Amino acid sequence: METKELICIGCPMGCNLTVTVEDGDVKSVTGNTCPRGAEYGKNEVLHPVRTLTSTVFVENRGNMLPVRTDRAIPKECLFEAMKRVNAVTVKAPVSIGDVILSDFYGANLIATMNVL
Ligand code: SF4
Repeated sequence: METKELICIGCPMGCNLTVTVEDGDVKSVTGNTCPRGAEYGKNEVLHPVRTLTSTVFVENRGNMLPVRTDRAIPKECLFEAMKRVNAVTVKAPVSIGDVILSDFYGANLIATMNVL
């Protein structure tokens, strides 16, 4: 049996979680104030995910466009995902929510700013 100490990132309270793992499965999560913390603790140990945020170059404006995934993607994919994002360029106009890359590790990479 193994225990992992985590801080829940579900809200600003930042509850201290203790996750007990046995035979590759989560046996308990304690320290959470609400059910979201239990879910976060379990997911963080079994298959952690993160929302990727970055920027891409806007060719015809010479500035950067902030982008993010529209859902969390597997944490182990972040390094490879960042390499793909770094190779992407776009052309204005771009609107908030425009899909920059689709089918991107189970999510879409979307614009988070208008560039006219
Ligand atoms: S367990 Fe609930 S209350 Fe505590 S930090 Fe997570 S989301 Fe917030």
